[in-house]
Amino acid sequence: MTSPVWHPFFQHGLNEAIPHVVRAEGALLHLADGSTLIDAISSWWVTTHGHCHPRIAAAIAQQAGTLDQLIFAGYTHEPAEEVARGLIALAPRADNQPKLAHVFYSDSGSTAVEVALKMALGYWHNLALDGLAQPRSRILVLEHSYHGDTIGAMSVGERGVYNAAWTPLLFDVDTIPFPAPGREQACLDALEAACARHPAGFVVEPLILGAGGMFVYSADVLREMAAICRRHGVLLIADEVMTGWGRTGAIFACEQAGVVPDIMAVAKGITGGAIPLAATLATAPIFEAHRSSDRARLFYHSSSYTANPIACAAAVANLAIWREEDVLGRIKQLAQTMADRLATLACSPAFANPRQAGTIVAIDLVTPDAGYLSDLAPRLRLFFQDRGLLLRPLGNTIYLMPPYCLDAQQLDRIFAALHAAGEKFG
Ligand code: PLP
Repeated sequence: MTSPVWHPFFQHGLNEAIPHVVRAEGALLHLADGSTLIDAISSWWVTTHGHCHPRIAAAIAQQAGTLDQLIFAGYTHEPAEEVARGLIALAPRADNQPKLAHVFYSDSGSTAVEVALKMALGYWHNLALDGLAQPRSRILVLEHSYHGDTIGAMSVGERGVYNAAWTPLLFDVDTIPFPAPGREQACLDALEAACARHPAGFVVEPLILGAGGMFVYSADVLREMAAICRRHGVLLIADEVMTGWGRTGAIFACEQAGVVPDIMAVAKGITGGAIPLAATLATAPIFEAHRSSDRARLFYHSSSYTANPIACAAAVANLAIWREEDVLGRIKQLAQTMADRLATLACSPAFANPRQAGTIVAIDLVTPDAGYLSDLAPRLRLFFQDRGLLLRPLGNTIYLMPPYCLDAQQLDRIFAALHAAGEKFG
C-alpha cells in the first residue's frame, strides 16, 4: 500500500522502503519489524539526553493535563516564565557587554532565525523612526551556512540546488568567505570591509557550520568576528540551533569564545528533543527599541503555538536535568572517546579531513563520487541502515551527533560500520 505521506529532504523517486519506528529509548529506535537502529544523529540533532527521557516525558504528561495551550499575546504561564529565566541564566555572558536579557518564543530553529532577523531589522527601523540611526537592512552571512528552510532562513543560508526553485523569494545578502585553515585573515578582512558598509547584522553558526558541510573554525576567529561587529555597531546574531545544548562541549558554543551575541537563536535540544520549541534571546537595547506605546514600533511576530505550555514544560524538565546532572561531564567523556575512535578511522586512506567540535565529529570519504547531486549519500544511508544505524551523510561527509547517553558498545558498532563504509565506498 502506498503512503500519502510526503517526507522532508527525502527522494521519493527511489521508491525505497521507509522504516516504521514504533518506540524509542535512550539512543535506540525500535522498528515495527522488531529490529533496532542506533540513532547516531539524535534524530536530526535534537535528542540530547536520549529518547523518551523519563523526566521530560513525565513533565509533558503532567502539563498536558493542566494547561495545554494559551494565546501568548499578552497572557503568560509559569513554564514559559521559568524557561525564560533559565535560558537567561545559562546564556553566554561577559563583563562590559550587554547580556541576553529577553526571550521570544517560537517553534523551530528556522523560525527562531526568522525572528532574529526580524528583530535585527526592527531594531534599526525603530532607531531610525526616532532619528537615532540610519535604517539598516543588509545581512552578512558566512559561506556554507545553513539556518533553516523558511524563506528568511534560506535567504541567509548557502545557495544551491536545495533552494534553487525559490530564488525569486530570497533576499540578497553579503557572503563572507568561510575561515578555513589558512584563510582566517581573508575572512576577517572581508567581514571588516562589509561591516564598514553599515549592514544590520551578521548571522553566524558559532564554531561549526552544520548542514553546509560540518566545517569547523576556531574560537579565536569567532572572537575576532564578534569584535569586528562590535567595533562597527553591527548586530551579531548567533545561530545556536545546532551548537546549543552542549554539542560543542559547552552549553552554548559562543561561551567557548567568550562571545555574547546581541541576538541568539536556540531550538532543537531546548526540550531535550522531545517536542518542538525554539527561542530567540535578545539584549536589552534590542527589546527597548521595540518597547513603545506607539503601535508602529511593537514587534509584529507570532504563531498560534508561541510558547506552548506543554513544550515549555518539557524545556523546564530539560533545564532541571542540566542543573542537577553532570551533563557536561558526560559530554566530555563521550567527546574524548569519539576523538580516539575518529583518530583511528582517519588513519584509513579511505577517509580525509577528520574534524570535531565536542560530540560532533565528521570525516570525508575519499571518492570521486562526492558531489551533492551524486547518489552517494542515500546509498551510504541505506548501507548504515542495513547495519542497524541511523546516519545521514551530507554528500561524502559522514558525521555523528549522538545523544549523550550513547554507550561504548554502541559507539564501537558505529565506528565498525564507518570502517566498513570506507572499505566499500572509499
Ligand atoms: N539553524 C541551524 C544551525 C540548524 O542546524 C538548523 C537545523 O538543522 C536550523 C537552523 C533549522 O532548524 P529547524 O529544522 O528546527 O527549523
